[in-house]
Amino acid sequence: MKTLQAVRGMNDILPADSALWQYLERTVADLLRGYGYQQVRLPIVEPTELFKRSIGEVTDIVEKEMYTFADRNGDSLTLRPEGTAGCVRAMLEHGLLGGGMSQKVWYTGPMFRHERPQKGRYRQFNQIGVEAFNLSGPDIDAELIILSWRLWKQLGLSEAVTLELNSLGTAGDRARYRDDLVSYLRERFDRLDEDSQRRLESNPLRVLDSKNPDTQALLADAPKLADYLDEQARAHFEGLRALLDAAGVPYVINPRLVRGLDYYGLTVFEWVTDRLGAQGTVCAGGRYDGLVEQLGGKPAPAVGFAMGMERLLLLIDTLGQVPEELARQVDVYLVTLGDAAATAGFRLAEQLRDSLPGLRLVVHCGGGSFKSQFKKADKSGALYALILGENEAAESKVGLKPLRAESEQENLGWHDVPARLAELI
Ligand code: ATP
Ligand code: MG
Repeated sequence: MKTLQAVRGMNDILPADSALWQYLERTVADLLRGYGYQQVRLPIVEPTELFKRSIGEVTDIVEKEMYTFADRNGDSLTLRPEGTAGCVRAMLEHGLLGGGMSQKVWYTGPMFRHERPQKGRYRQFNQIGVEAFNLSGPDIDAELIILSWRLWKQLGLSEAVTLELNSLGTAGDRARYRDDLVSYLRERFDRLDEDSQRRLESNPLRVLDSKNPDTQALLADAPKLADYLDEQARAHFEGLRALLDAAGVPYVINPRLVRGLDYYGLTVFEWVTDRLGAQGTVCAGGRYDGLVEQLGGKPAPAVGFAMGMERLLLLIDTLGQVPEELARQVDVYLVTLGDAAATAGFRLAEQLRDSLPGLRLVVHCGGGSFKSQFKKADKSGALYALILGENEAAESKVGLKPLRAESEQENLGWHDVPARLAELI
């Protein structure tokens, strides 16, 4: 019979890789706890309407990337392409933003977009997202950037990432800018790429994002959004820059940075790297003060970002920053010979787990000769083997043999093993 394969662009995370995933998750979770952010765990499936109303009808995601289907009741559901919309929905549904209450939350999990799979771009991928609600000043924008900067330092990535920063201004600024940009581009309509021609009417700011070289050349002389920022937008941006300067976070201003989702305003930022080829953005976010209201809530300012876990893991690996301790998953491998020793072995193992809770101890299962068991012990990566034959079992003794060094086997009473292992490992 033909074997089945995973859906294209959707990856299995296999045993050899899961320790690195856990390391990244753990590092982020610890860091965010240290800044007072709490985790939310949200559904993977949401009503399609949620994404249409939040991300915007004329975005790549909603136009062509969503996994949308009718469920058995005929309701249109979508596998979430991103986490912000669901997070805002949950905040509103549970009244967590009432009375101007602020919230600092994060989430992690798979997102789904029907894109062309390639290195760093998949159809199921994982994000860690961080959002803060009901805080309107540049201080919280700065905090989000500063904590991501700390994360890069902890992960050993800070040399390889650059912060790109821009301000999209207020809704009024963007409306005035949009008019002028559209007139400028309309006069040069024929020289625009096809996507940009389409977007000119529906979502003109996205034209700035075009990867087409001719369109990019045209944009060189186009009106600049920076010239349209009003007093409020300017003050917000300057406030953010002052806080980043004070914290020593380096950045570059990228006036072309607009972000692919409709709901951003004021601050937008991306952390980019040149080490991963075309898929260089590892983390992206910004302020989205209009979204809560757009989803039916009372107006509430909000800011957040999401990082792509696959790209971060690729970067950790590319830069040789995988922590050494992840290479070894087993400390001790227990081999036994004979039925009585096998039974005693389980008793010894459970005693050791009682006294050394962090110990990574594999009890050999499946029988076989000492020789074949030692082969498995060696392959497991364990530093030590514990050896239990019939005689040792009868006398509550056990052999302790280093597997990675030339030193001699020691023979110990069971009671002495925990202290000795604690010394050695
Ligand atoms: P890109 O410009 O690379 O398509 P995006 O602007 O669509 O990214 P966001 O929606 O802002 O990305 O998502 C935040 C982060 O999630 C990205 O910076 C990236 O690291 C990651 N990401 C987005 N799409 C994918 C994907 N298809 N596969 C893997 N990671 C992704
Ligand atoms: Mg994209």
